[in-house]
Amino acid sequence: MDRISIAYPVFRGNERKYIDECIDTSWVSANGRFVKEFQQGFADYCGCKYGLACSNGTVTLHLALIALGIKPGDEVIMPTLTYIATANAVRMVGATPVFVESDPDTWNVSPEAIEKAITPKTKAIIPVHLYGLSCDMTAIMDIANKHNIPVVEDAAEAHGAKWDGKVVGSMGAIGSFSFFGNKIITCGEGGMIVTNDEELFETMKLYHSQGVDPKQKRYWHLVSGFNYRMTNMQAAVGLAQLEDIEWHKAQRRRVAGTYNKLFKEKLDGLVKVQRVDDPENHVYWMNCIMLTDKVKKDRDQVMAEMEEKNIEMRPLFYPMHVMPPFEDKSVTFPIAEKIGSRGICLPTHAGMDESKIEYVVDSLEEILTK
Ligand SMILES: *Cc1c(COP(=O)(O)O)cnc(C)c1O
Repeated sequence: MDRISIAYPVFRGNERKYIDECIDTSWVSANGRFVKEFQQGFADYCGCKYGLACSNGTVTLHLALIALGIKPGDEVIMPTLTYIATANAVRMVGATPVFVESDPDTWNVSPEAIEKAITPKTKAIIPVHLYGLSCDMTAIMDIANKHNIPVVEDAAEAHGAKWDGKVVGSMGAIGSFSFFGNKIITCGEGGMIVTNDEELFETMKLYHSQGVDPKQKRYWHLVSGFNYRMTNMQAAVGLAQLEDIEWHKAQRRRVAGTYNKLFKEKLDGLVKVQRVDDPENHVYWMNCIMLTDKVKKDRDQVMAEMEEKNIEMRPLFYPMHVMPPFEDKSVTFPIAEKIGSRGICLPTHAGMDESKIEYVVDSLEEILTK
């Protein structure tokens, strides 16, 4: 059996044709039709008015926080269990990330924990749709609206997941996405912001391109901004992937369906997965398992044994509050710590065939039961 990678992008649409067009027409930088079409197409897909293509899914969060006026001294509530970019973006505006506990079943941020963490300094909430599963956006938006705090959805892992019929990214004030090589759809590196708020959009647009005045003369800058633009070449790939997003989602759900069926048959009681109440909620960026207490081996040992069988594994994210840049010994989040220390991400990609999924689960069965 060849090595089974954790992730693998699939390009089966217009990607190459559009890239060729960039080169043939010499529109390779941030001007060009693909940037415009990708932005509008992605915003439409999310049910939002505005889309802004950016260089990655970290700077999108940075721009969102700038547009909301978040500054040093402000607090931003987020799950401790997330990818570090969420927390880094808060540091980029000099604000303080306030980490909160996860839900033991969905592994997403606990709405109750968000509400408990609110102080007069809280200026934003960033729920993260972890591994492709939508957070409980009804509960989160109720809390946010009650306290009048804006929400930035970190939807970097969950393109096209839905909550109560709405696409993630469209429910908060701003939605942020990543198109890194292993995400649901990719353009190598890239990010997108969606919003329905014209003023927020104009501010993010201003800062993403050196603060250049959109109306005034050339080289006239209104603020000190950044170069966070996406290139037309990236957008060419992104647009082609977007045209094919329903296929990508369907394939990921197929892979998850097979994993879940085999977990029940072969690993019952040994592993837990994220609880999914409605199939529309999850787009399965990754299929992750958490080893239950019945498994006596530690997680890293299981991963090492799987690697020996030529299967690439990833640990679940380590909670932010235990890692050097954000370490805080005065707090403890037992649920997030447990998920983080007992969780494993399994190979998940749209092109993964059934025999490989079976090989992964059979290997796990052997390792967990022997
Ligand atoms: C991937 C990811 C990001 C950052 O995206 P990049 O494009 O890699 O900068 C942000 N948040 C979460 C939760 C992610 O998984």
